[in-house]
Amino acid sequence: MQQSRCDIIILGGGPTGLALALALGGIGAEVLVIEARPLEQLADDAHDGRVTAIAAASQRMLEAIGAWEGMAAQAQPILDIEVGEPGTIGRVHYDHAELDEGPLGWIVENRLIRRALIAALAACPGVTVEAPARAATIDRDPSFVRLTLEDGTRAQAPLLAVCEGRFSTTRGRLGIRARQKRYGQTGIVCTLAHEKPHHGLAVERFFADGPFAMLPMIGSADDPHRSSIVWALEDGLAADVGALAGDAFAAEVQARFGDMYGRLTLSGRRWSYPLVLVRAESYTTDRVALVGDTACGIHPIAGQGWNLALRDVAALAEITADRLRLGLDPGDAAALAAYAGWRRFDGTTLVAVTDGINGLFANDVFPLALARETGLAMVEHLPPAKRFFMRHAMGLLGDLPRTMRGALV
Ligand SMILES: Cc1cc2nc3c(=O)[nH]c(=O)nc-3n(C[C@H](O)[C@H](O)[C@H](O)COP(=O)(O)OP(=O)(O)OC[C@H]3O[C@@H](n4cnc5c(N)ncnc54)[C@H](O)[C@@H]3O)c2cc1C
Repeated sequence: MQQSRCDIIILGGGPTGLALALALGGIGAEVLVIEARPLEQLADDAHDGRVTAIAAASQRMLEAIGAWEGMAAQAQPILDIEVGEPGTIGRVHYDHAELDEGPLGWIVENRLIRRALIAALAACPGVTVEAPARAATIDRDPSFVRLTLEDGTRAQAPLLAVCEGRFSTTRGRLGIRARQKRYGQTGIVCTLAHEKPHHGLAVERFFADGPFAMLPMIGSADDPHRSSIVWALEDGLAADVGALAGDAFAAEVQARFGDMYGRLTLSGRRWSYPLVLVRAESYTTDRVALVGDTACGIHPIAGQGWNLALRDVAALAEITADRLRLGLDPGDAAALAAYAGWRRFDGTTLVAVTDGINGLFANDVFPLALARETGLAMVEHLPPAKRFFMRHAMGLLGDLPRTMRGALV
């Protein structure tokens, strides 16, 4: 029976698990990734139709760990963001030129992010990816986590990182409870081609029945001007809208979005994602760290979920790398306390912010409507507040790990 010993075992080879493997593989750590699905399936066009808004600090981190090069040519810079409530004075326009930090972020297709991460891992001889594979048993003693995979392969490491996404089964298996809140909303995602260029503008509109985002994409040979939409609607309404014929669907979007980009047409298929908030009660347990959506899966209203996950990755990679360099145990209580302490506030804040914004804009009670309208109008006319929110969205605030400041792991 095969048996391997490594520095860290990562359960889940989604974007978070692969980024963690790359960050640690890049410093020569021995890493084992166990992913339930075949890797080719994860990077396939048919697997995920979403794009991700990658904040400026996350882009620096992806560059530092060697993943950015593989996606840079397909990354659309976000130069402006417009947030508003149609039919009211509530509107904010963020312009990257107001800060001296480059674009506010980038839009990259999820399948291209996965492909870039998988390609970059090929340069890390210390990283082994077992896929498709699952852990049949997980045992812990004071010094190690020991796993037996379903095919009988055995592995052990001083640290286990669980990156299985918001519906992780290992989280509960290891005794960490998670709070779940179903929003009763579905996110409809698709690509729309349009007649006029977007000039790098990302638009977020808050309609009474749910938030709507239009995210600029790099043009393709067939569609030189295109954007990806994320349209959150109450589940029943989303099913009805999703079932409309392509032309009728595009006309419905056009009616909401207006003529700013000329005529909109559907390009490719539509995708649906149930929107659920998941918050683990703890980031860690003995020899185990929860990372990314497994620890904190938030509403996509602010396009921050994977950015939050990458801050988890950057923090855990930094703590682990420092301890490995010093010959210290990367999974002992001190290391795990450092990780949980570093990440708790950021996670709690984003859960509160995204949940709060969604609740505020999904509610048409007059005082709330007035509050959000005047709130947006105030930010628009207060340059310091505007710059603060821009820097927050860019991931530039707080106690940032080294890679997010452009340094190496
Ligand atoms: C509609 C929508 C739009 C979004 N837009 C943005 C955005 O613009 N910007 C942003 O930052 N974030 C965005 N997000 C959030 C982002 O998609 C997530 O934060 C990100 O996918 C989390 O990655 P992950 O690897 O933690 O989890 P996942 O993507 O869920 O990956 C988990 C992986 O673990 C594997 N797995 C699960 N269980 C097991 C097991 N038992 N054993 C082995 N493997 C297992 C799965 O097969 C999967 O590959 C959006 C989310 C939604 C729903």
